[in-house]
Amino acid sequence: MAAFGSLSTRLTETLAKLRTKGKLSASDVDGTVREIRRALLDADVALEVVKSFTAAVRERALGAEVGEALNPAQQVVKIVNDELVGILGGESRPLQLAKQPPTVIMLAGLQGAGKTTLAGKLAKHLRGKGHQPLLVASDLQRPNAVTQLQVVGGQAGVEVYAPEPGNGVGDPVKVARDGVAEAKRRQYDIVIVDTAGRLGVDADMMRQAADIRRAVDPDEVLFVIDAMIGQDAVATAKAFQEGVDFTGVVLTKLDGDARGGAALSIRGLTGKPIMFASTGETLDDFEPFHPDRMASRILD
Ligand code: GDP
Repeated sequence: MAAFGSLSTRLTETLAKLRTKGKLSASDVDGTVREIRRALLDADVALEVVKSFTAAVRERALGAEVGEALNPAQQVVKIVNDELVGILGGESRPLQLAKQPPTVIMLAGLQGAGKTTLAGKLAKHLRGKGHQPLLVASDLQRPNAVTQLQVVGGQAGVEVYAPEPGNGVGDPVKVARDGVAEAKRRQYDIVIVDTAGRLGVDADMMRQAADIRRAVDPDEVLFVIDAMIGQDAVATAKAFQEGVDFTGVVLTKLDGDARGGAALSIRGLTGKPIMFASTGETLDDFEPFHPDRMASRILD
């Protein structure tokens, strides 16, 4: 995966060096852990996540499972893999569907994070699983957001509820509420509400997102974050967690070749599961997120 290109190379090179050794000394372990720490920091993984990750790897690498292993180097690779799976969330977590349809899914995140594109991707994915999703255009802020949602809705083969002209005009909270009512009336089983972001965290935007959350009482609030956001991931994720108390995370732009540290930080920073990954601009560049698969791609 491009977003982890450099991190992946550095981790595999560091771990490969252990292969020439028989038993591992404490200083071998420390040297390896130091290199892992540097590689993670250079990939923009948040400091608190790097600290707990390296502490866990070090403790296990110095313990009996490596000391008594026939192949200590391989055992360390396994430990790093396990711990990567751990910081990515362990098990994958599917969407929580409402007992009484429609399931309401709200998208939140900064402008440009990829929310509108994701709305189309998610709708197409759910349609493929036999659901009938309705997209609701509550981003009335960004010029063309409504039109863009209509375009992705068309590509996904799903309908878009968009009664307002957009571009600063209309009431996004009302659109969200009416959209959900419309879905109930017309028996759609899933509603995906696209909301407005700003370029940076902004009190007005957060208030609006919180108002929409209260108005539609979603089953899932997905925080959409650009994996390339770097160290800003920490403040952004925490602001959205406080502002809208999201239930899950979607990582976008994992195809980008910048440093994808946000991907490795977000679960540790928020405690919320990463549920989907977006890996390109077309609607099919999308997959449910599997921590174990992602970890093995990084260590590939
Ligand atoms: P929004 O402001 O959050 O609704 O973001 P958009 O959905 O409009 O996406 C912003 C830009 O990022 C658009 O040009 C999208 O085509 C692009 N984009 C979205 N997701 C991805 C992705 O996974 N990979 C890449 N390379 N581009 C993406």
